[in-house]
Formats: sequence, C-alpha cells, structure tokens
Amino acid sequence: MDNNSKKSAELISIGTELLLGNILNTNAKYISEKLSQMGIDVYYQTVVGDNPDRLERALELAKTRADIIITTGGLGPTYDDLTKETIARDFGKKLVMHEPTKEFIEAFFKKVKREMTPNNLKQAMMPENSVIFPNKVGMAPGCAVEDDFGKIAIMLPGPPREMTAMFEDSVMDYLAQFCDSIIASKTIYTAGIGESTLEDTLYDMMTTSTNPTIAPYAKEGECILRVTAKCKTKEEAERLIDEAIEKVKARVGEYIYGIDVGTIENAIVTLLKEKGLKAAFAESCTGGLISKRITDIPGASDVFDMGLVAYSNDVKIKVLGVDEAIIREHGAVSEECAVAMAKGIYKLSGADFGIGVTGVAGPGQSEEKPAGLVYIALWDGKEVKTRRMNVSRTTRGMVRLFAANYALDMLRRAAQAR
Ligand code: ATP
Repeated sequence: MDNNSKKSAELISIGTELLLGNILNTNAKYISEKLSQMGIDVYYQTVVGDNPDRLERALELAKTRADIIITTGGLGPTYDDLTKETIARDFGKKLVMHEPTKEFIEAFFKKVKREMTPNNLKQAMMPENSVIFPNKVGMAPGCAVEDDFGKIAIMLPGPPREMTAMFEDSVMDYLAQFCDSIIASKTIYTAGIGESTLEDTLYDMMTTSTNPTIAPYAKEGECILRVTAKCKTKEEAERLIDEAIEKVKARVGEYIYGIDVGTIENAIVTLLKEKGLKAAFAESCTGGLISKRITDIPGASDVFDMGLVAYSNDVKIKVLGVDEAIIREHGAVSEECAVAMAKGIYKLSGADFGIGVTGVAGPGQSEEKPAGLVYIALWDGKEVKTRRMNVSRTTRGMVRLFAANYALDMLRRAAQAR
C-alpha cells in the first residue's frame, strides 16, 4: 500500500440493536471524530445488523470507496458474532488461533474458577497475518488485516469502553502510518475556578493559539481544558503542548490539580500517597459521595481513613461530638457546624486531615438557608480552613457534585501545601 497518499476510511457499525434504535451509535461518533483529527477522511458510515450476507455486501461496497474499513461489533463469543469470519472470507484469509489470546482467555476462566465453554476460544481466532490490538478492558482483541489489493479492514469490539480504550492504546498508533501528521493532546484539569473566569483569564490564548489549540472541554461540575497540537512527530507535538501548558500554569496554576489525571479523586489519592497522608470525611449533604469517589480509586486504602455520613443532628452531636449549642445557635448548616464536624472526624479517625461538609441539597430551603448553600471545613490538627459555597444550579445531584468537588479541592490544596 502506498502510505504517502491521503487515505479515506469508511465505518461499518455492526449490530441489530443499532438498527432497531435500541442504542445510539456512539462508536461511529467517536471514531469519526478521531479520524477527522488525524486527517483521515470519512465519506461514508454504514450500519448493518448481525447478518453475514448483508455485512459482506456492505464490505464490498466499502472497498469500492474507501482505503480503510473500520468495523465495530460482532467480535464476541456467540453464534451471531460473525465479523471476523465474514471479513476473513471476503479478504481471502484463513482464521488462525492467536496463542497469546487463547492463553489469556484460558487464564481468565481459571482465575474466576468458571468452566470455559469452547465458544470462548472463537475470540482468539484471528485472520492470518493480521495486526492484533489487545483488549485491556474486555476479552476479544481487535485486529487489522490487509487484502492483496491494499485495502485494510480494522475490526474493533462493540462495547464502547473496550473500543475506545483499544483505539487510544493501539489503533491510533497503527493509523499513524497513513497520516501526514499526528494529533496529540493533553488535558488540563482545574478546580475552584468558574468556567467564565477561566475563559476570561485565558481568552487571548484560546482565541489566537492555533497550534496547539486550547479549548474548554465540557465535564459536569468541572472546568477542563484540552490542548491539542498537530505536528509531523509526536515529540514536536508534545513540545508545543508542554509549552502551552506552562503558559496556562503561569496564569491559573493554583487551580490546576493535574494534567491527564482523569479526576480530582485520582489526583488526590496519588498526592496523599506520595506525601504519606490520610484523610477522613464527615459528610452530611453529600451523603457519602466524597468517600465513594475516593474509594473508587484503586489504592484508596493507603490514604482514606474513614467516612461518616452524619445526616441527622443527633449523629452530628453523639458521634462527632458537635456541641448542641452550635446547632441551636447557628444551625446544622453553618460554618461553625462544618468546623465541629471536621474536628470531630479528625479526632475519631486519627487521619491527617478531617473534612466536614454540611449544606442544603434542596429542593426544600428556608429564607436564610437557600438550597445550594454548603459549608466545608478542613482541620489538620492546627489550623482550620473553611469555605462557603452557594451553588446556583439547585438540583440535589448538582449541589452534591459541586460540594464534593469543592471539598476535594480543599483537601488537594492542603495536601499540596504540606
Ligand atoms: P461482546 O463480546 O460484548 O459480544 P462484541 O464485539 O461482539 O462484544 P456486540 O455484541 O456487537 O460487540 O456489542 C456489544 C454491546 O456493545 C452492545 O450490546 C451495545 O451495548 C454496545 N455497542 C455495540 N456497537 C455499538 C455502537 N456502534 N455504538 C455504541 N454501542 C455499541
């Protein structure tokens, strides 16, 4: 295949569920977006059911109008998963056992102490001479195969989690051979700064910088920036991206909790681990959300001491030792109560940081305590830090999400200062 001429691709999404309208074709959206970023043209997308004849016809047509055909779905172990069989036949290839995948599948069933039905090994049968893309999330690997006329078929799994992981881990590297330039990007995660302030502070950079581009990226309750460069080499793209990130840091560095870290809880678990610190949470309006988010991260046990959902005043008083007078005089939703909760959980747990969160999740509210009003306190044994926040979007979910984000950001700042 002449790798220097511009290539075009066609997507074939396989699955009867897609035709019935049971699921949205998010795989096509994801892959088309990636290909356009890489400079590979997509002129057609096709959807076919789990039917080998119709898939073969779609394949034949795709070969007349694209260089690279990318399929998703139908790589699983069941009788209706026929993608590899159909494409191998059409491309004149035999299916052969891929030993590493066979061993991986057998080891998996041994580990979970389940008997392996023979059809599982179907997932290890790959077209001869294909490039294999390992599946780190599921079981069926993907692959790329080239026919005698230079047409390429790339077969990817249907489940979006598996497909996207595979695409980022290995398919992009494989496709790079057909691109004149490569696209690389890094994501800057911020907390404690509003979207409009962030955009305002970086407005000139966002509007004038074209390579790399700096663009806000939507994620519920957080402000994220994606820095993307298009260059001849990965090294050059990374250099441009890193330079831009330094410029962003010079302006809003204190709000940045990480680059490519995924989530603030991820960044916190790493940070606390590095510093050998532990945290404990007394949560009222967040109902355990902060503890849940921290314990979602592998390795949380090194840094998470305890979480207590102290919802009723009684528990705040009896378990956390909040003075009754505080609740009587200031109310359970008050800075004073948050501080007492933080001190209480600090004492109970023996962690390095105690965090107390109390607020009105809504929709019910009173005049002086509107829904969305939240107090957060952090006590480190010597010093107390507090934050009052008023979330204007007042669904219970949003208030909880924002309160958890704020509390996690306070913890991140305190840990960073150690
Ligand atoms: P499995 O091993 O799970 O059978 P597979 O590669 O054979 O994987 P399918 O059986 O075709 O894939 O699809 C599995 C699931 O993945 C579907 O039930 C659907 O939820 C999801 N899925 C498949 N194709 C798409 C798509 N194009 N967009 C979004 N989701 C999809």
